[in-house]
Amino acid sequence: MTKSSAIFTEALKAGRKSLLETEAKTVCIEYGIPTTKFELTKNEDEAVKAAERIGFPVVLKIVSPDIVHKSDMGGVAVNLQNSKSVREAFGQITKNVKKHNAKAKIAGMLVQEMAPASTEVIVGAVKDPQFGPAMMFGLGGIFVEVLKDVTFRVAPVTKDEAYEMIAEVKAYPLLKGYRNTPPADIDAIVEILVNASRLVMEHQEIKELDLNPIMVYKKGAKTVDARIILE
Ligand code: ADP
Ligand code: MG
Repeated sequence: MTKSSAIFTEALKAGRKSLLETEAKTVCIEYGIPTTKFELTKNEDEAVKAAERIGFPVVLKIVSPDIVHKSDMGGVAVNLQNSKSVREAFGQITKNVKKHNAKAKIAGMLVQEMAPASTEVIVGAVKDPQFGPAMMFGLGGIFVEVLKDVTFRVAPVTKDEAYEMIAEVKAYPLLKGYRNTPPADIDAIVEILVNASRLVMEHQEIKELDLNPIMVYKKGAKTVDARIILE
């Protein structure tokens, strides 16, 4: 059994409706979708050691089967520059989460590398009752949330279709570079779209996939947050 199959089986058996970020990113990596480096930790000392291994600055995030939108409850701290800030953030996040949901089960604290700011894109998948899984693409921030500048294709998507998707959003010119922003690695986005399409085709237990945001660089791309909702 593959690592991904084991993760899905275990989550479904436990009656969970979504994967933890650690699980979702492990699945992503197995499918060739690059993510930020991460380590799951249980206490402040472990978090500091993980941060030292990963390299500062780091990001801390709550990992809980009861929390889907982490930053809504103060469950994310970015740009932590040293071990003192890691310790402080560990305590603060734990406090924030307990305040919002005293009963939330906590699986641990995720320490991850801080992905440098860049052009952000979103790759997603939703299941249409008639056509099955469909892939979604858009640029991050206001482009998706305010302008609804997104495009869809029924999965599986080929490389050519992935290029078409990227080229047809209105914000596409931004990926070609502007002012101080260098051109984004479009091939890297294509690869993520094709691999994410393969993932949802091979795992029909996925109801929704949300890679949001993905930082795209001059060379390569990195998934910063991955959400997988189960049927
Ligand atoms: P959620 O969507 O559950 O609230 P995210 O993991 O998306 O939580 O984190 C919230 C925001 O924090 C992201 O949209 C991103 O702007 C920033 N962020 C999170 N993780 C990283 C990271 N590893 N590197 C850089 N920025 C990050
Ligand atoms: Mg997110």
